[in-house]
Amino acid sequence: MKILVLGGAGYIGSHVVKDLLANHMEVVVYDDLSTGSQQNLFEKAEFIKGSILDYPALLSAMKKNIDAVILLAGKKAVGESMENPEKYALNNLSGNINVLNAMAESGIKKIVFSSSAAVYGTPQYLPLDENHPLNPMSFYGFTKAEMEKYMQWYDKLKGIKFVSLRYFNAVGYDEEGSIRGLEQNPQNLLPIVMEAISGKRNSMSVFGNDYDTRDGTCIRDYIHVSDLADAHTKALLYLDKNEQSLVLNLGTETGISVLEIIKETERLTGKTVPYKIAPRRPGDPAIVTASAKKAFDALGWKATHSGLENIILSTWRLYQ
Ligand code: UDP
Repeated sequence: MKILVLGGAGYIGSHVVKDLLANHMEVVVYDDLSTGSQQNLFEKAEFIKGSILDYPALLSAMKKNIDAVILLAGKKAVGESMENPEKYALNNLSGNINVLNAMAESGIKKIVFSSSAAVYGTPQYLPLDENHPLNPMSFYGFTKAEMEKYMQWYDKLKGIKFVSLRYFNAVGYDEEGSIRGLEQNPQNLLPIVMEAISGKRNSMSVFGNDYDTRDGTCIRDYIHVSDLADAHTKALLYLDKNEQSLVLNLGTETGISVLEIIKETERLTGKTVPYKIAPRRPGDPAIVTASAKKAFDALGWKATHSGLENIILSTWRLYQ
């Protein structure tokens, strides 16, 4: 299969490309390098520098005998999406519609889409399964939920089949160390912890320690990027054999608190994490955990890299 990976130079995209190549797929990476990094490119994959906002360039990339598209190009900072929704409307909605239209025009019938647990909003029950109502609390989550609706229509009207992968908290780095691009200006917990112990920032904040959880800090479901990458490959193999679209959670079904991440990082690295307790961050639910049963049933997928120790050590190796 020949796969066009939109956003293939990014943090998750580069891990996906690595997994596709290991599974003997032909890969074309398409990325504007706005957040992705040249360091994340693989020699064995063709690279086209381009944006999903550039319809003619996108279309010409799709005319390279592409069998399926993986769409990871997008903006992903929840907080920023609330301050600058225009940026998210443009990239995550207009850009994604370009992708669907270019697929329709070039006759490509399969897409794997990078969605998010942010589509659910505050959990009404746990663990979250795919039937949980969608009530995004951020504009970012709204763009992901909207794209899933667009894909349902393009499935009905244009025969484009999709697998939408709702990632929980993506963490970790390739254990073989072949992906070296660090995220610039990270917004997520683990890279912030890493920047704090490596001296790149003076201190970090723990957003709230008065939640109704075992240690008062928020609990999340942290999933290793190599597990996410494996799910993309399996989703493509599924679409190759099945004519039915799917929406799947990707998580570990295990919850870890913010303080547990910090304490385990201190234990494994022998360093102190300089942190202070800060007020709650608006919109943070106390606990978010996934049911991953559907992904197991449909794809035979299960998280195997996502132990806490591996998550932390594979990240620390790069930040050291
Ligand atoms: N968090 C924190 N300090 C930070 C960044 C995040 O305490 O500097 C907490 C955040 O409140 C949440 C958890 O870490 O409970 C995971 O946050 P992240 O932004 O990584 O992912 P989210 O769950 O919001 O998608």
